[in-house]
Amino acid sequence: VDELLAFARSCHGRGWTVATSGNFSVRIGEAHVAVTASGRHKGRLTREDITLVGLRSTGVATPVPPPSAETPLHLALYQRFPHVRAVAHTHSVAATVLSRGLSSRGFLNIAGYEMQKALEGVRSHDETIALPIVDNSQDMPALASAVEDALERFPAAFGYLVAGHGLTTWGKDVATLERHVEALEFLLACELSSIR
Ligand SMILES: [Zn+2]
Repeated sequence: VDELLAFARSCHGRGWTVATSGNFSVRIGEAHVAVTASGRHKGRLTREDITLVGLRSTGVATPVPPPSAETPLHLALYQRFPHVRAVAHTHSVAATVLSRGLSSRGFLNIAGYEMQKALEGVRSHDETIALPIVDNSQDMPALASAVEDALERFPAAFGYLVAGHGLTTWGKDVATLERHVEALEFLLACELSSIR
């Protein structure tokens, strides 16, 4: 949890989770997830800003403090991918602008960058990294269902984009998650710079 909090605060410092935007979680044992509480400023996170939820028991009782509204999207990833132990959702300028512009296409392909090799298992700049894009919605079950469909279409994805909103990615531990967020945010910034 402390490792996740330090990483989350650093994301705020780099402009990827300004104000109260974004959310972070780490799996605790087999049945629980520690997730950032709703509405907390990401630059000043402490253990007080973390709440514990059941991996499969949302809605049974509301934990105190209440978890991020986007917690169901984190839980869906832990349920889909048993190896995933940490999840981050960021709201960078690059993820927001690119996903809004490409939402009708439904995906963003990234290829030709040395930085791709920071992603787990990627060996060459020649590989194509696909990021699915789903439309934004304030209806959480509808958004979760759209994400599930996107991950069925792109089973090898390292993350996904919600249009005009941001990036979600994951890792087998916090260190891998940190590497994936940094690599994907760098690649998205490169893509945004190249269309200006
Ligand atoms: Zn968000």
